[in-house]
Amino acid sequence: MRNQMLGTIGGIGVLLLTACSGGESDPVPSAGSAHVEPSGQGSDGYASDGHESDGNESDGHDSGQNSDGWSYTGDTGPEAWAELDASYAACAGDAQSPVDLSAGAAAGATAALELAYTASSATVTDDGHTLKAEVGEGGSTATLDGVAHDLVQMHFHAPSEHTVDGEPAAAEMHFVHAADDGGLLVVGVLATEGVEDVAWAPYLSAADLPAGRSVEVPVDWAGIAPDVSAYRQYPGSLTTPPCSETVTWVVADAPLELSAEQIAALDAAFDDNARPTQPLGDREVVLHE
Ligand SMILES: [Zn+2]
Repeated sequence: MRNQMLGTIGGIGVLLLTACSGGESDPVPSAGSAHVEPSGQGSDGYASDGHESDGNESDGHDSGQNSDGWSYTGDTGPEAWAELDASYAACAGDAQSPVDLSAGAAAGATAALELAYTASSATVTDDGHTLKAEVGEGGSTATLDGVAHDLVQMHFHAPSEHTVDGEPAAAEMHFVHAADDGGLLVVGVLATEGVEDVAWAPYLSAADLPAGRSVEVPVDWAGIAPDVSAYRQYPGSLTTPPCSETVTWVVADAPLELSAEQIAALDAAFDDNARPTQPLGDREVVLHE
């Protein structure tokens, strides 16, 4: 269920634990001993230095074209997603994400949202569309209206997908949670340029991964958890194919501050990996303060 909802890693079975940084200083302390399943290793040259391209991929980070057939530009871009594959039909639905958070906003009853995050290892993968950090051991949860959701993965978009008064932020982080019944809760936070946030350093250390590769890093989930003391909530969808309309969205009012260098690292990994905003329709964005 989760895998169907959240998608899979780029269609490539090869994971490799090198940060592809030339080895001058390994930013990934646990890489040497961490677990990996290199299903294609040894027969395709990946093990040698991790730089070879693959027949299924084009040329890496910014090409936008992935083996799952969709991208952020051109003939396979957002306007075409619903037509690319029968399983992507929901992308033309009327409860899609992202949206502009200013439109239709109204104060609502306060719903308690609690993030209980703990540090854990995470497997960070360049899946051809973003850097996806999948949670290892740890048991981080988000509880909304009494319903617990497990933190599954976190990734980014740059610029942001949700907008405020039509304006995107520099980037947006998505913390994806799943409940036992398969319902998804995604907590988003907009990132603006400011002071460096060192808690993001381990995740950002993977920003130069080649497409299809993974690295295991320690993540202080509590240290990077969004401030959800005030947030906006609405019903929506995955912002990437298959665009399933199974997501309760929460976007924190308080932005995340990252340094110009940290934002540049995100942009260097994936530029313009953001879906345009979708019509709100008859949905309401509810403010919780
Ligand atoms: Zn996302």
